[in-house]
Amino acid sequence: METLLSYEVWLRLSAFLGLLALFLSWEGLAPKRKRERTRRERWVSNSGIIIIDSIALRLVFPTAAIGAALWAAEAQFGLFYLIPNLPVWLHVIAAILVLDFAIWLQHLTFHHVPWLWRLHRMHHSDVDVDVTTAVRFHPLEMLLSMLIKMAVVVLFGAPAVAVLLFEVLLNGTSMFNHSNIRLPQKVDKVLRWFVVTPDMHRVHHSWHKEETNSNFGFNLPWWDKLFNTYRGDPKDGHAGMVLGLHEFRESTRNRLHALLLQPFTSANARSAVTDKNNTNSKDKS
Ligand SMILES: [Zn+2]
Ligand SMILES: [Zn+2]
Repeated sequence: METLLSYEVWLRLSAFLGLLALFLSWEGLAPKRKRERTRRERWVSNSGIIIIDSIALRLVFPTAAIGAALWAAEAQFGLFYLIPNLPVWLHVIAAILVLDFAIWLQHLTFHHVPWLWRLHRMHHSDVDVDVTTAVRFHPLEMLLSMLIKMAVVVLFGAPAVAVLLFEVLLNGTSMFNHSNIRLPQKVDKVLRWFVVTPDMHRVHHSWHKEETNSNFGFNLPWWDKLFNTYRGDPKDGHAGMVLGLHEFRESTRNRLHALLLQPFTSANARSAVTDKNNTNSKDKS
């Protein structure tokens, strides 16, 4: 376990770069949908966002969630440490499940609370969804997410190795389910029992608000099925559905500086739930 932690940076970086290469190639060879915009137009902004996010996280939380887990282990703090003789493997699996549920609940909350939706909607304003959308989150949302994750880690006493495995896993599954890739329907159907697939997560990027407010999972699909927020397919079909948000479609709205200012730009803070503009013309007619 300690060996795994000592290779933390290499594990994260090699998983990220390896999967990026895989999904970029897959998107090139077997894309699911036609792009609305050029890759260059979106990739410049989305790449800028990941660089800013990485720097912001490193500056504000240098030891991040792993540091919180190491502190909890040292102090034997957290609910899991109250259970006597908890086997390490069970501690790790339970912590991964708790963290995944916490991320799901956080995501749902970010859709329902207006000022949190202001931060999160930048992820939804991408008019195409591909592997680069997986890293398109506002730096303020990233910092807040890290704070919440650290609190969950300390509250439950999640072991550092579970945090590392969870973060690498979540990064990988998120890249997978944002990819604009074609998967045979039968394969998708089987995979959906264990992991959120691209077809499942694409529904969440629909501009129909009832579809935006479904499929909150990034990793395990079980929470959506359990809490009745699961939606199998988009009503306009995967090829015909419109991605993004009604009020942020222009190219100028998707430039890097505009993305960073997006939480502060619109007149009213509305949640995805109450956002009456988050519907398309077909809804209005
Ligand atoms: Zn969302
Ligand atoms: Zn997404």
